Amino acid sequence: MNNTMAMKDLVCGMDVEAATAAGRTEYKGQTYYFCGPKCKEKFDLNPEHYLSKSAGTPKSGHGCC
Ligand SMILES: [Zn+2]
Repeated sequence: MNNTMAMKDLVCGMDVEAATAAGRTEYKGQTYYFCGPKCKEKFDLNPEHYLSKSAGTPKSGHGCC
């Protein structure tokens, strides 16, 4: 079985794999994965902000890391 799971980093819009994600956080019983600790930090500060605009529109560029 392949354990690879593509998740989306809601902060920067990057695809991250659950197995290799550099950051993760739990919010309301759901686990979210991030490309790095910076994105995790940003999410932790304001999760609702990122959840509300998670419709799959990546920002232009990857400004976090
Ligand atoms: Zn990121």
